[in-house]
Amino acid sequence: MKGYKFYEQVNAAFDEAAQYTTYDKGLLSQMKICNDVLHITFPVELDNGKIEVIEAWRVEHSHHKMPTKGGIRYSMTVNEDETMALSALMTYKCAVVDVPFGGAKGGIKIDKSKYSQRELEHITRRYAFELIKKNFIGPGTDVPAPDYGTGAQEMGWILDTFRQMSTDLNADGCVTGKPVEMGGIRGRTEATGRGVYFGIKEACDNKEDMKELGLTPGIEGKTFVIQGLGNVGYHAALYMIEAGAKLVGVAEIDGSIYSEAGIDLEKLMEYKAETGGVTGFEGTETLEKSNSVLESDCDILIPAALENQINEENAGKIKAKIIGEAANGPTTARGHEIIKKRGALIIPDNYLNAGGVTVSYFEWLKNIQHVRFGRMGKRFEENSYKKILSVIETISDRKFTEKELSFLAKGGGEAELVDSGLEETMINAYNEMNELRKKHDVDLRTAAFISAINKVGTIYERMGIFP
Ligand code: NAD
Repeated sequence: MKGYKFYEQVNAAFDEAAQYTTYDKGLLSQMKICNDVLHITFPVELDNGKIEVIEAWRVEHSHHKMPTKGGIRYSMTVNEDETMALSALMTYKCAVVDVPFGGAKGGIKIDKSKYSQRELEHITRRYAFELIKKNFIGPGTDVPAPDYGTGAQEMGWILDTFRQMSTDLNADGCVTGKPVEMGGIRGRTEATGRGVYFGIKEACDNKEDMKELGLTPGIEGKTFVIQGLGNVGYHAALYMIEAGAKLVGVAEIDGSIYSEAGIDLEKLMEYKAETGGVTGFEGTETLEKSNSVLESDCDILIPAALENQINEENAGKIKAKIIGEAANGPTTARGHEIIKKRGALIIPDNYLNAGGVTVSYFEWLKNIQHVRFGRMGKRFEENSYKKILSVIETISDRKFTEKELSFLAKGGGEAELVDSGLEETMINAYNEMNELRKKHDVDLRTAAFISAINKVGTIYERMGIFP
């Protein structure tokens, strides 16, 4: 397995957790292995007429549930090892939050900033075409979503390409994270960051666990540092601040900034859009080393950029008592050990960033049901609440104001139902994982893997092995 470092790390975490389960060794090997690995190369014509060869992957890790599901990443770091590791993490993540998909992941090895919109569209559509040709995409086969470097636009191009080549009634469900106008769902863009917030909140609300860490319960008043103000990082920060936490540090690609007094997130985003970075933002100190803000004073550190950011070089200097892994694989095995020894709580990636796939699941359900959540029941619910309120008015002599009525008699629309489903999922999964942590006296990462192995293992045991 030379060269497979990230995948090896995921498997090492799996092996650690497998000791607390009773599955047959062969079955455990089957659970760990990647079922299908697709490596493709294709040419693209650039705006200047030159031809460039592009390298890309799609890996389906586990077919124990179908379709398989996982994001598509655009980055120069994309390679086979990374895609395999991330696809395996997707299997375990889906299991932890009870999302009925197998894991998958895709990636194109490009630096997005070097291409025009037209070139990016060509690359994306050609990649989608290759996936269609090889049966690596479809609402019942494999369903991509956004990841690092991709968003609704790329998903829209993929769906359009799929539609050109398929008459599948459920075609909209071939990809999630697409624009709402194309069958996407309200709340998907912010889902991963929103889930990160729900997960950290659940951890902070546990009085016993906070006491062990020497922290007061609740998110309010806690200071936090974020690495990577992209989709996940920005939304996680937004909801943390809304709940009363204080953003004191940010690391971005150009460097890092710190302010004990707190950083205005919206103004910083405007500044980032104007200048392309965060360094030099008014009222903050720009730190010399780009990642040194990870080591600054704060209660919670949220790595939301890429893998391997907390490692043996910096783990010993990190002061945060809670590490909320919003990115995939941000902590190396060695980094994890060092942080764990210090007694800090690591909320693992294969739970904490599952909000994206959870809401993707809701989007896929919406697509195959061909109806928006809330469309059938919203008015009915509102009318029922109004009837109850009118009875209360009659018997109590209390007249509700228009404002009270619209607040109390509000039915759930798509955005509200998605948010509520996401919150429920993140809370349940956290408590399930935390119970396993205490039962086996392990850390949360191992507990998440135990939970995943048990859920995937039961299915493998029941379905047996196809001859
Ligand atoms: P994104 O491209 O929107 O944002 C990433 C941000 O990180 C960018 O602003 C980039 O400039 C910054 N960055 C890159 N390298 C950095 C470095 N060395 N130091 C500091 N900042 C750096 O990507 P995203 O979708 O927010 O994904 C971030 C992480 O979350 C990835 O690990 C991804 O796999 C994971 N994730 C994303 C989703 C999703 O729904 N988008 C779901 C689950 C997990």
